[in-house]
Amino acid sequence: MFPAAEFRPYCLTLFCLFGLLPLTPTLARDLDIQNLQERRSDLLEMHRRDPVAREALAREIAKIDTYLGDVALRAHQPTEAAGHFRSALVYDETHETARVGLIVSLLQTEQLQDALSQAFSGVAQHPDSADLLTLEGEVLYRLNRLDETVPAWRQALALRPDSALQERFEQVERELNRTESYRTSEASHFTLQYDGERLDPDIEEAIVDTLEEGYDEFLRTLDHIPDATITVILYTRQEFRAITDAPSNVKGLFDGKVRLPMGGLTYLSRAARTTVRHELAHAFLHFKTRGRTPRWLHEGIAQWLEPRSSGSREASLAREARRRGLDSPVPFSYPNALSQVEYLIDYYGTHELLELLEHLRDGLSISAALRETYRVDLLGLGSEWARWLDQKHPEGSR
Ligand SMILES: [Zn+2]
Repeated sequence: MFPAAEFRPYCLTLFCLFGLLPLTPTLARDLDIQNLQERRSDLLEMHRRDPVAREALAREIAKIDTYLGDVALRAHQPTEAAGHFRSALVYDETHETARVGLIVSLLQTEQLQDALSQAFSGVAQHPDSADLLTLEGEVLYRLNRLDETVPAWRQALALRPDSALQERFEQVERELNRTESYRTSEASHFTLQYDGERLDPDIEEAIVDTLEEGYDEFLRTLDHIPDATITVILYTRQEFRAITDAPSNVKGLFDGKVRLPMGGLTYLSRAARTTVRHELAHAFLHFKTRGRTPRWLHEGIAQWLEPRSSGSREASLAREARRRGLDSPVPFSYPNALSQVEYLIDYYGTHELLELLEHLRDGLSISAALRETYRVDLLGLGSEWARWLDQKHPEGSR
């Protein structure tokens, strides 16, 4: 009834990219940031005065800026990091690590066009950089330019085999082969791709209406306007399985694009409409928090926006919570996730929920964001929720 693996955290790819970013090798890891800033000022001063050593000094400044950018990126401050990396590139245009760092920072803040031009410049300067080719492919993929993603990743893999990238490369190749014959249409906030032979125009219209309606509603509820169109790919059932490797009970998927198995429908049922709204909610959450919402919260909010409510299921959730112990960690399940979100809204309100999401967007961990918003950590929230359930549905009640 509840799909098991329907949400694939898109942010994983960013963590992979994080791993690609090496610390500037010539600088010690534990250098004090303040010392470094002072050293940078001294170097700048010398750079102004000493025309002979100017080039060597500029390279030193670029190394420090790159290091500072790396520190900011690891502290989840991509905007600040981008500033440092840009400065590094002013002093040393060909600094590969600075270019990699800048692209990763721009990806994290969804500045895709800027990221793309940086990736193109980087690859032009360093045609044998597996990091830059991987990133170029990543940006192209996010811009839905799959036919250009494939050669970039193929080249990256030839330079440096990598099993995670290999897997994504194969998925994009499959997707590209299938979607080449698809028609694309632009609705006002969506790029819709579908197989023209199989989809009934009335159903397409009903799907677009559902998407646009959901868009207007989520924009207000989640207080966020996505800054690019959202790609929605409609598949027949078999194609959906073939492309996504999703188990057969999965009804839809969001992995940066909304993927929905809709082929063969004769009308848009209530259940299908709910699936469309659920996956669209994942897209909004992803863009609002830049991929930083943990799974339970993603699934809880997506179900709440379907809209779905725990209703009669609550009594059994309360029994489960008592069996586990009211202060035990809450295991992930779709019903638990929905009920926890209902608790947050019921007890604290939607305004606080938005505040929580904004803290996540700004780079706070889920526990830090919960503490900042509700003065409670993840374990504490689990206890509060279990006690709330226990009070609503005490032992012996039905
Ligand atoms: Zn979901």
